Amino acid sequence: MVAILDPEASSLYHFSPPKLRLSLAIGRKRNKWYLIFAKSYPTADCREVARLNAAELPVHGHRFWFDHKATTGWEPSDKNLLEYLSSLGAKQPDILSIVSSKGTKSEPSEVVVLIPEHRLARWCERCHSWESIDDPIEARYIISRKEPFPAYLCPPCYESEWCGFRTLRNLFNAVL
Ligand SMILES: [Zn+2]
Repeated sequence: MVAILDPEASSLYHFSPPKLRLSLAIGRKRNKWYLIFAKSYPTADCREVARLNAAELPVHGHRFWFDHKATTGWEPSDKNLLEYLSSLGAKQPDILSIVSSKGTKSEPSEVVVLIPEHRLARWCERCHSWESIDDPIEARYIISRKEPFPAYLCPPCYESEWCGFRTLRNLFNAVL
């Protein structure tokens, strides 16, 4: 049986490559794609594990050129990171699909992220924090902009932004 990623679920999707006892997630920071820890680990000083898209090549939504130099240090010696993330085992759904490859091991491959937008890890545009699987579902980050790529705010930043707009509006009304 092929594992299917549930598109109906509203939680942040996370996964664990074989033999790795850590939860990982994929998310977008502005127009850059990242492999991140799905939650804060005391031994990791940063949530970001690796940037996945090749910096010099274009990103179109969920489709981008995978940086062949991206690495985590967890890949077995016979696999690069793309192969590692493409072989999570039968029990976990595929998270990436290779669309085209330039044909050599040293060139980027074009990939599509199969995780739907609402199940990706969200990054707060304002305080630069990442969502965590430890956060309650109702604390998921809130979309603040759809174009040119989706942008999000964590609930406290969203709240303060909203209060900022309200203050401005009240000031404006007071002047009139
Ligand atoms: Zn925030």
